[in-house]
Amino acid sequence: MAAAPKTVSILGSTGSVGQNTVDLIAAYPQRYKVVALTAQNNVTLLAAQAKKLNAGLAVIGNPDLYADLKAALAGTPTEVSAGPDALIDAASRPADWIMSAIVGIAGLRPTLTAIGQGGTVALANKESLVCAGPLMMAAVARHGTTLLPVDSEHNAVFQVLDPRQKTAISRIILTASGGPFLRHTLAELAAVTPAEALKHPTWSMGAKISIDSATMMNKALEVIEAMYLFDLPMHKIDVRIHPQSLVHAMVEYIDGSILTQMAAADMRTPIAHTLAWPERLATTGQRFDLNQNIHIDFEMPDLKRFQALELVRSIENDETGMAIALNAANEVAVAQFLAGKRHFDQIVPLVRSVMTMWPEISPGAMPATIDDVFTYDGIARALAESQGSA
Ligand code: NAD
Ligand code: MG
Repeated sequence: MAAAPKTVSILGSTGSVGQNTVDLIAAYPQRYKVVALTAQNNVTLLAAQAKKLNAGLAVIGNPDLYADLKAALAGTPTEVSAGPDALIDAASRPADWIMSAIVGIAGLRPTLTAIGQGGTVALANKESLVCAGPLMMAAVARHGTTLLPVDSEHNAVFQVLDPRQKTAISRIILTASGGPFLRHTLAELAAVTPAEALKHPTWSMGAKISIDSATMMNKALEVIEAMYLFDLPMHKIDVRIHPQSLVHAMVEYIDGSILTQMAAADMRTPIAHTLAWPERLATTGQRFDLNQNIHIDFEMPDLKRFQALELVRSIENDETGMAIALNAANEVAVAQFLAGKRHFDQIVPLVRSVMTMWPEISPGAMPATIDDVFTYDGIARALAESQGSA
């Protein structure tokens, strides 16, 4: 007799990670039963996904779009709802595996709700961990949840880090492609347009993370993400530029051994790893072609041109929730850049100035609850907005 299908939900199914997840699940209709799909605004794609996967529930975050989604799914068995509470309802529907792929701190409450089920949560939404790492990891422990990293670097670390040897880790090294402007001078960086910044050389991703990759704030967020996921002090988390994006991370042990995971730059590989774990899923994604001559380069990052990598280090011993300020200021700065209201080389400086002012205006302690996290986020966002555009 065939095994019962695994029940799955995708929070943020219309995004880049969400669409890759839908593709993988659609290839195995017997293995997976889709409980819920959510999106913020893209009714057409959400409805098409719900029909393709025969989803139990489709939720659109923007409440004004309820009637459109209802009409698009008329005559299908899919239940339809809308608004922020409906997103939480989707995350609380029982499922064996839930993909957290909403972008930004907007993913925090749905992700925590998913964690509260005590099943498996595949985490792409790194901003939620950056803002609420200690609270989220405590919830994971309390509910006995399996939290599997989807971010390619963290998924690589997860694959090669033997928990029995944790005390023998000397450091982990996250690789960074360097983004589209790796060789740009400071003067060239000042003139970068949103269209140029959205063109990543090796990965195809959503708008926000593409800009974060171009400024390397993405790697700064990933250093914080790794600190919480693997419970390591920040000074044991290093970054190297690796333009080919084939080696996704390395774990170095005290005996000098360095273990790594390699794969083509295709998010379907880490997503499939979390979907099937502890088993493996055959996929048709891109392959690392060893029948060609392959070059693998590692370089030290230039901290003068990519200051986010140095800025993140002030989070290491922070007890004031400064990571929330870093994330909020970055979300504001990226939105301003994409709207043509901020120069590319003024994204990280806005984050720096909010972080510099943070000790004076912060409540002075780590957030004790998720409501506190949103209060801190609101304070930092207002401060970032009050700096105007640049
Ligand atoms: P995306 O912008 O392509 O998709 C975001 C998804 O979230 C969409 O489904 C959108 O409808 C939904 N969404 C947006 N705002 C929302 C809101 N306010 N409330 C509810 N839902 C909302 O983003 P993405 O590139 O797929 O990235 C998703 C997350 O995964 C991010 O945290 C990103 O850092 C992380 N991540 C992405 C990649 C990648 O390859 N794209 C790789 C690693 C990690
Ligand atoms: Mg990554």
